[in-house]
Amino acid sequence: MSCVLTKSQEETVALGARLGRLLQPGDFVALVGDLGAGKTQFAKGIALGLEVDPETPVTSPTYTILNIYDGRIPLYHFDLYRLEGAHDVEALGFEEYFSGDGACVVEWAERLEDDLPADLLTVTLNHAGVDERSVCFEASGPRARALAETVLA
Ligand code: ADP
Ligand code: MG
Repeated sequence: MSCVLTKSQEETVALGARLGRLLQPGDFVALVGDLGAGKTQFAKGIALGLEVDPETPVTSPTYTILNIYDGRIPLYHFDLYRLEGAHDVEALGFEEYFSGDGACVVEWAERLEDDLPADLLTVTLNHAGVDERSVCFEASGPRARALAETVLA
């Protein structure tokens, strides 16, 4: 696992944008961290990197579960904080997004437990100070490893 320290919200957005520029259909990014850790700021960066209109607000889809942004490829931004009970991706109707024509960025992806793609990039954000966050990258397969290496290069 490799970590970097961001010293402002803007730095976290910029780091997310580096990743967003690389994403291709089928890519899956799990965002892990407490409330306020910066998951949505990182997702906002990913959206910018995917050429989503910068005027489009990127907010946590806490109640809607899923926001879809129109970028270079579709961006499926999930927030599973309120997900309870059944964790079955098929029953939830997520499958068409997970293996679809766009990239998935999922806050609270750990709610799905074992029902996640095999090759995914987990980005864990932690408070390291008032305006500082440690941002750690962990890959579970070759595609995610390539993404992490390029972002951190
Ligand atoms: P989450 O989605 O993890 O609940 P948000 O991204 O919505 O968190 O909120 C992160 C909050 O922390 C924002 O208010 C942001 O301005 C603030 N913040 C301060 N420093 C940073 C940083 N280095 N990176 C990201 N967010 C930061
Ligand atoms: Mg959020």
